[in-house]
Amino acid sequence: MEPATRRERTTAVPDAVNTEAVLSVVGVGSARSRAAVARRLGLSRTTISTIVGKLMSLGLVAEKSARRKGRGRPGIDLDLDDSRWRALGAEYHSGRWSFVATDLKGAIVRSETLGVDGADPDAFLDSLVSGLRGFIAGIPEGILPAVGIGAPGLVDCDRGIIVRADDLCWKSVAVGEAVEKALGLEALLINRNRASGLAEARFGAGRGVHSLVYIGIGTGISAAFINDGVLMNGSSYSAGEIGHVVMDTSGPVCGCGKRGCLQVYSSGSAMGARAAARIDSGRVSSLAAQLSPAVGRSSSARRDSRIAGEAVCLAAAAGDELALECVAEAAHFLGLGAANIITSLNPDKVVIGGPIGLVDGPLVDLIREEAARWAMPDAFEVVTIERGQLGDYVGALGAACRVLDNKLQLALAATSGETGFATPRPGVI
Ligand SMILES: [Zn+2]
Repeated sequence: MEPATRRERTTAVPDAVNTEAVLSVVGVGSARSRAAVARRLGLSRTTISTIVGKLMSLGLVAEKSARRKGRGRPGIDLDLDDSRWRALGAEYHSGRWSFVATDLKGAIVRSETLGVDGADPDAFLDSLVSGLRGFIAGIPEGILPAVGIGAPGLVDCDRGIIVRADDLCWKSVAVGEAVEKALGLEALLINRNRASGLAEARFGAGRGVHSLVYIGIGTGISAAFINDGVLMNGSSYSAGEIGHVVMDTSGPVCGCGKRGCLQVYSSGSAMGARAAARIDSGRVSSLAAQLSPAVGRSSSARRDSRIAGEAVCLAAAAGDELALECVAEAAHFLGLGAANIITSLNPDKVVIGGPIGLVDGPLVDLIREEAARWAMPDAFEVVTIERGQLGDYVGALGAACRVLDNKLQLALAATSGETGFATPRPGVI
């Protein structure tokens, strides 16, 4: 039996709640025809037809090819309109921006990367604005008037600010204001690894997974905790900041001011610094070729920054002994961190990603071995640990999901706000 018509309205003017519900049902494909959508939501055919008409005029829903059901009239399928609108996503990692434009189903239709000259907030913002401007110019379709931005560090999603990114020594970077001022697009910020986790949950290794943990490893480390597709933010958006979980109270000082945080042992920067220090002390490694001969042996701090974590992982995959040692040491702490999360949250799956996690090498296997040693056995027995599936644009795609989640309000805003709906401002996450 279909549910009672608890949300039924007698007026012909659709409200935002019912319209979002129709858009959602059509979007996930759980009902295709107008009649099936009406049954699914417990709304009248008249109401559904009014709402679908509105969604079609907004370019959000389209009629697809007719199909024949038995001997009756052919039905007409409804689907998201994949031709009129594009959703923008951007993500910053490893000194470059990744940009994507997706259709309403989240399929990437255009992508681009842009190297950033400099590692300070001004270079970060200038390249974001100029890169987006150029990227948008090449998109012929309509653009939903917002951009999802996967940013490093602790992000205040309400105010559009990077509160702090300790791996980069940044504080209070007003990303939203810069983008809105320069481009007239609403900026929907999200931590870059939380964005990647969302993308894996919807389109990659986390599809159909009830309880998912995503661990992103780059110059910093952070995670996404996702239950049934819903991202856990915490009270102030810091849920998932596992890079600052303390592993050793007498360990090295972290950029956050505490000692022995996970990311001082296991980030890509930490791997590169460890490799450089050991080459400096006379160890032989293929990674020595990464160091500029112009940099003297006394400038060890400068030498450290010359080996990227990705290079260490690639060298480890090729069998370089020193690189393997550095990766194994990082994996020890990552495995310990993952074990503590597995014991605490009992997830179905842990996905390892970020620029370092995506390198095809021994890291994920080593993390799994360490986690097996330290996690509560009952929780470890049921968890799968694997590498992310979505590649370099995963963070930008996840950021674009923030736009897709607000497509109704954004399409209304883009079509000059003619409504008939009660439309709240696009929400956060
Ligand atoms: Zn820290």
